[in-house]
Amino acid sequence: MEKRDVIIIGSGPAGLTAAIYASRANLKPLVIEGYGAGGQLMITTEVENFPGFREGITGPDLIAELRAQAERFGTEFLTADVTKVELTGDRKIVWEDDNEYEAKAVIIATGATANLLGIESEKKLMGRGVSACATCDGFFFKDKVVCVIGGGDSAMEEGTFLTKFAEKVYIIHRRDEFRASKIMVQKAEKNPKVEFIMNAVPVEMLGEERVTGIRLRDTVSGKEKDIDLDGIFVAIGHTPSTKLFKDQITTDKKGYIVTSQDKNKTTYTNIPGVFACGDVQDSLYRQAITAAGSGCQAALDCEKFLEENE
Ligand code: NAP
Repeated sequence: MEKRDVIIIGSGPAGLTAAIYASRANLKPLVIEGYGAGGQLMITTEVENFPGFREGITGPDLIAELRAQAERFGTEFLTADVTKVELTGDRKIVWEDDNEYEAKAVIIATGATANLLGIESEKKLMGRGVSACATCDGFFFKDKVVCVIGGGDSAMEEGTFLTKFAEKVYIIHRRDEFRASKIMVQKAEKNPKVEFIMNAVPVEMLGEERVTGIRLRDTVSGKEKDIDLDGIFVAIGHTPSTKLFKDQITTDKKGYIVTSQDKNKTTYTNIPGVFACGDVQDSLYRQAITAAGSGCQAALDCEKFLEENE
């Protein structure tokens, strides 16, 4: 069995920043990066708000830079998915199929993924007019008609953002009241390109090769109607990737890992020696830079923990 000081699970900006800090602290981390290495940034085209890149950088390029930086200081990578963990004891065991890895500490940085509606036509038209990321794909809908599904802050933010490109943006919500904060709703409401459709659920995304429309069912009358449009953005929240850890690590009711409220231990989980950073423990900010920041905190917390427990 391979023994390590630290294993980092996940390789988005949180995991990779944790790796940079841990390797510079001589902890020789092993990053189990997953087959979907890089996380959500890998499906992001332009990142214009990550400090230090005044012209912007693509998501995959940013990941490649972070990864190379971590490697430069001695981080090792394993491209595989973790299949099982045993984190409750002093020695943490992580499995990748039959291969077993042992560490004194584990940093969880497995991120989150966008929720989808789960209807057949959504799967068929994904990437052909259906998207779960307005920031990634909005640009492709210049002067087109699009809709955003959802009634939370993300739906408002994405709907407003999409008006930069699209000629018209429908925001379609299943209830008659938004979950989003008032200020975000007002901002969308004020935008002449935005039209709200309330009490409506998508029953089918229309189109063969590309999206041509959406079929909605009115939740009050039960009546169905079709709307012609070119793009559908699904903004119905995210799910943290915590399935592996749920029976060992405390999560909130949405499944996000609960980290310590103690300001000196912000990335501590309920298990000593297990830390969490990035979107897997943050449903609010969800930015590459906040994920990277918490990755740094996790590595520093981890280093201190190991020193205290040597
Ligand atoms: P959210 O608050 O969970 O909202 C998800 C929305 O999608 C809800 O309106 C929900 O409807 C709807 N929905 C869920 N499942 C659906 C389904 N199967 N079919 C149709 N609609 C469905 O998620 P979010 O908007 O991504 O926000 C997540 C967190 O990030 C929140 O804390 C939010 O405040 C924060 N955030 C903040 C900002 C900002 O301040 N700039 C921007 C974005 C996000 P119901 O309301 O009926 O449940």
